[in-house]
Amino acid sequence: MRRLHLVLALSAIPTIGLLAIGWRSLVQGEATAAAPAPAVPSQSADAGGTPRGTRGVGTTAPSRSADAAVAPKAVAPDKKAPRQRSVLIRDVPHLRQKPDFCGEACAAMYLNRLGQPVDQDYVFDRSGLDPAEGRGCYTRELAAALQRIGFRIGPVWHQVPARKSAAKLQTLWSEFYADLVAGVPSIVCMYYDDRPSPAEHFRLVLGYDAESDEVIYHDPGEDRGAYLRMKLARFLALWPLKSGKESWSVIRLRLEPGELEHGKAAEGFTAADYAQHVMRLKKKVPGPEFSIVIQPPFVVIGDEPAGDVRRYAERTIKWAVDRLKAAYFEKDPAEILDVWLFRDKESYEKHCRAIFKHAPTTPYGYYSDSDRALVMNIATGGGTLVHEIVHPFMAANFPGCPAWFNEGLGSLYEQCEDKDGLIHGLTNWRLAGLQEAIRKKQVPSFQALCTTTDDRFYADGRGTNYAQARYLCYYLQEQGLLQKFYRRFAGNRAKDPSGYETLKAVLGRDDAGMKTFQREWEAYVLRLVFRG
Ligand SMILES: [Zn+2]
Repeated sequence: MRRLHLVLALSAIPTIGLLAIGWRSLVQGEATAAAPAPAVPSQSADAGGTPRGTRGVGTTAPSRSADAAVAPKAVAPDKKAPRQRSVLIRDVPHLRQKPDFCGEACAAMYLNRLGQPVDQDYVFDRSGLDPAEGRGCYTRELAAALQRIGFRIGPVWHQVPARKSAAKLQTLWSEFYADLVAGVPSIVCMYYDDRPSPAEHFRLVLGYDAESDEVIYHDPGEDRGAYLRMKLARFLALWPLKSGKESWSVIRLRLEPGELEHGKAAEGFTAADYAQHVMRLKKKVPGPEFSIVIQPPFVVIGDEPAGDVRRYAERTIKWAVDRLKAAYFEKDPAEILDVWLFRDKESYEKHCRAIFKHAPTTPYGYYSDSDRALVMNIATGGGTLVHEIVHPFMAANFPGCPAWFNEGLGSLYEQCEDKDGLIHGLTNWRLAGLQEAIRKKQVPSFQALCTTTDDRFYADGRGTNYAQARYLCYYLQEQGLLQKFYRRFAGNRAKDPSGYETLKAVLGRDDAGMKTFQREWEAYVLRLVFRG
């Protein structure tokens, strides 16, 4: 995606939303008087400090980085602190986070307030986080995303001594408050609540009510999470992540716009979509022996060693997808699909039953539209995998394609190679059976093959239908007619749903000529050789 840059100087911060307000005017939503804006404390744009307590999780995930055994206790507010006025950044829309995208949602809310038509996925996509991890941003990645987007986030990690935390926390709050007065909100990573093992959670802090001594924030984890309130004392108790016995981590990311890039919501699936998909997928993955590789438009899951799974993803799946798209398919499947590579027969049969609740009907592998999955016994080789990859692409690009052509093209690439950058089908194990059927005069006419129903096509127990369709595609390929046939057939499918008329046209034969063609094709197939 091409990105334009929008210069948004600090002076252009929407100060209309920044008001010094009393309790009543806050309730009534009225402006009273503009706050004097003190200078923003000078802070470097670096996310300095050591990344500790870097986990910001969704509301359901357990804490991973903090020593969660230490329950937060309320911190008494410093009585000597100067009296603070109320301040509120108004008109910030609230977004409900996707799973584990609390930080991303917080950032998107304020980007929306700044007029950027972006979503939480956009923020994730700017983080550089590998979607195969199947999680949202931790603090480190969120900081990277915010800086790429163009925020001056200031120092992110602050250490607070565990024993005398109050004074340091008060100082950090004073800086925080000064930013709010200057119209700069912040995302904090904090404990969700004060239960014994609280999750760490990102929230967007937007104001402070002096009258009630409350921090005002958006919570992306709640449906009605806009402008929620929490006593400052409670906030200061939940803010430090009690990562160590001696020292705690306090995390704040300022959202001061520098030169903001001009973001817009992306089309198609992005890294964020894959991350969300992997999060759902992880619930189905049977065990730690499985690794996950993103290979658009697929997510590959396998229980061979991780390096082997990656090699299949790159050398078989990507290889085939690139070439099939170049030759035939413009559109990707409408959904992200899973490719399960089970390492052997035992794993394949056991996991099919466990994950998909049915026993496989083929020893090699299959594509299931309802499970949105290609399911493979990869010990039988990568040929079936390439075959099955054809099906979801066919469904996306040629809906209603009859089984004979769908399976013929899929079968053609069970044995294939690269020829001048193009995918090229080779003779394979299906040849012998077809030759035998030709000799026994058991092969139906092409008219019969094309016009058979899908049910009858699949009911053929000997596999002659697959083989006949495959070697028709092979013949068309060798004559340089296969891509032409595909395009004409797909384009003309309303008038000629079986493809038979299109086949005649591409071959340049009439009805009588098709009889001659059948004899020529059978003789051609009998001359083919497969050295398996
Ligand atoms: Zn198939």
